[in-house]
Amino acid sequence: MSGLKSVWVFHVDSGSCNGCDIEILDVLTPYYDAERLGIKLVPSPRHADALLVSGPLTRQTYYAVKAAYEAMPPKPRIVVAIGTCASSGGIFYNGYPIYNPNPERGSDRLRTGGIEVLLAEYGKKPDMYIPGCPPSPEEILYGLAQLLGLKEKKMKGEYYYADEIEFVLPERPIEERIYLTLRESLRRVVGYFDREKVLEDFMALVEKAQESENPRERLHELVIGYFLREKDSRVKFAIRFLENEYWRLKDAYEKRHLALVKAGVR
Ligand code: SF4
Repeated sequence: MSGLKSVWVFHVDSGSCNGCDIEILDVLTPYYDAERLGIKLVPSPRHADALLVSGPLTRQTYYAVKAAYEAMPPKPRIVVAIGTCASSGGIFYNGYPIYNPNPERGSDRLRTGGIEVLLAEYGKKPDMYIPGCPPSPEEILYGLAQLLGLKEKKMKGEYYYADEIEFVLPERPIEERIYLTLRESLRRVVGYFDREKVLEDFMALVEKAQESENPRERLHELVIGYFLREKDSRVKFAIRFLENEYWRLKDAYEKRHLALVKAGVR
C-alpha cells in the first residue's frame, strides 16, 4: 500500500470489549495526531480507503461489518485487524457468540472469530494485523505507518520446518472423549451454569444403563424417567440432547477405533 499518500479510515466494532476502540480513539485525538500521517477518520464507509476492525466477528455484527465492507469503494479496500480479537478471535476464540461460517453444529467446527472469516468470502485476507490486547496507540500508529509505507517492518516472518515429526495419536479412552465432547457441546444448549449438573446426572444414568444387557434401551428408559420428573424445560431438552449425542458420538468413535485397529495404527 506504499503508493498511498493518505488514507481515510472508517472504524467498525465487530464485537470488541471496547478496549481496542478506546485505543483507536486515542490514536485519532490531537495527542497522537494521526492526521499528520494523512490518516483521517470518516463517518461513512463509502468514503473510506481502509476499514479498521476491532473485536471478534460475532453472529450479530457479521451483517453490519459485511455491509460496511461492501459499501467501501472497490479500491483500495484495505482492512486492518486491530487487536488480538480481530486478528484471531483472541479470548473469544470458538466462543458461543462468534460467527460460525459453517451452519452445521458440532464441536469440530471451530468458530475462530477473526475478521479473516468474513474476508475469506471475498478471497481476501486483512492487509495488516496489529495484535495486542489491546494494542497501544503507538503500536496502532506504527502499524498504520507501515501500511502507508512510511516505516519499514523491523521483524520479518519466517517459516520453520521441523526435520522429522513423529505422529502420535493421543491415547484417551472413548468414554473420556465422549464426556469431553458432550461437555463442550452442552454449553451451547444450557450454558455454563447448568451444564455440570445435567452432565453429571446423565453420566450417572449411563453408568446405570451399562449394567443392563441392553444399555441403549435401558438408557432411554432412564432418560425418559428423568425427563418426566424434571420441571425446567431447558434441562428436559438438555437430557434428550445428551442421549442423542451420546449414541451418535459412541457409534462414531467406535467405528473410527475399529478402522484404526484394522489399519494397524492401534
Ligand atoms: S483484543 Fe483485548 S481489548 Fe481488544 S477487543 Fe479483544 S479483548 Fe478487548
